[in-house]
Amino acid sequence: MTRLSWGSATHTGRVRQANEDAVLTTDGLFAVADGMGGHQAGEVASHLALDALADAFEQPGTEVLVAAVERANLAVVERASTDPDLAGMGTTLCAMALVDLDGRDAIAVVNVGDSRLYLLSDGVLHQITEDHSLVATLQRQGRITADEAAVHPQRNILTRALGIDATVLVDSWEMVPVVGDRYLLCSDGLFNEVDESRIAAALRRLADPTEASQELIRLANEAAGRDNISCVIVDVLDDDGRDPATAGDSRITSHRAPADPELLDIGAAAGAPAPVSARVSSGSAPGGGHRSMFTSVLTWRVILFLGSLLVLAAFVVGFVWWTGTHTYYVGVDGPQVVIYQGKPGGLLWIDPKVAETTELQLADVPAASRAAVSAGVEEPTLSAARTYVRNLLDQHDQQTTTTASAPPGPAGPSASTTSTTRG
Ligand code: MG
Repeated sequence: MTRLSWGSATHTGRVRQANEDAVLTTDGLFAVADGMGGHQAGEVASHLALDALADAFEQPGTEVLVAAVERANLAVVERASTDPDLAGMGTTLCAMALVDLDGRDAIAVVNVGDSRLYLLSDGVLHQITEDHSLVATLQRQGRITADEAAVHPQRNILTRALGIDATVLVDSWEMVPVVGDRYLLCSDGLFNEVDESRIAAALRRLADPTEASQELIRLANEAAGRDNISCVIVDVLDDDGRDPATAGDSRITSHRAPADPELLDIGAAAGAPAPVSARVSSGSAPGGGHRSMFTSVLTWRVILFLGSLLVLAAFVVGFVWWTGTHTYYVGVDGPQVVIYQGKPGGLLWIDPKVAETTELQLADVPAASRAAVSAGVEEPTLSAARTYVRNLLDQHDQQTTTTASAPPGPAGPSASTTSTTRG
């Protein structure tokens, strides 16, 4: 039978006004949550998430633990949607639990965000979880080095957190509990202030998990204490006779890490300011930056939406422009009948312009057509407009011939128009 002992400590730090971290230590379930959101909303989010996690973790199993994280996420989302003061709150969540795996004990680990689980085995510290942060993603993609990540101006931007969306991607691991192993759950207020060699030294030096937790917090505050600091230490006292031959990462027997599809290539974010929501916690995070959530899903949806709008707008503008410049009508310019390019009265911002003046006077237009010409007779093409004018000229010539019994005029219909433009 596997036996564990544990201790924990959490502290506001030396800069923040409130502690938005929360820790959970029950028999077999341990977690750290680092809340974000102004006006104590982060505190509500982290505590709400851990309460919901504990409530939902009824059976000791990895899938149950993952489902409990999803339930905790919904609890934060629902609460944020019903209380305007809490809108936009979120939290990280990193947890481990003793579970049953095919009849034997195992340690299940889940993570969302940038709180971490470390394993100290044979005196060596191993980081088990992967951060869901912008710099961690850039580092995994080989775009920046660990040193660059440590001083990156956007290192406080998360790519995943609870409370952001109704669905959440949860990384999970299953590990073999081995006697002598020591697990450390912690928020970023620890590892951003204290380097891992000093964390490992403190974990090796102090056997009591509560004392070790308090020492880690003291070290973080000694460094600067710019953020809330939380530690949960879990020691494996008995491992049910497991083989201790392997250590460190080889404790991991399974690892499921669903990839954020939008983050497969976050491209220009390395150099340009990343799109972030205004999820700002109280006070400054280590490095002077504010804690933010990289709202990649929202961003890509917004980009797609705006892109669609742009395409639609371009289509409308193109359609109006084409209609306003590729149609013609026969109208009048003072006493003169002319052919306009455009629509009678204009179309939105496109005013009609004179494409051609004709030899025809409005007074010479047959009476039946005069009103129509005054209002503007639309024709699909310039050629059709010319034909219309020619017909008017023909009608005028016939009327003149009939009523005056005079010989035909000298002007042939084919010479009825002359080209010009105006405006
Ligand atoms: Mg923090």
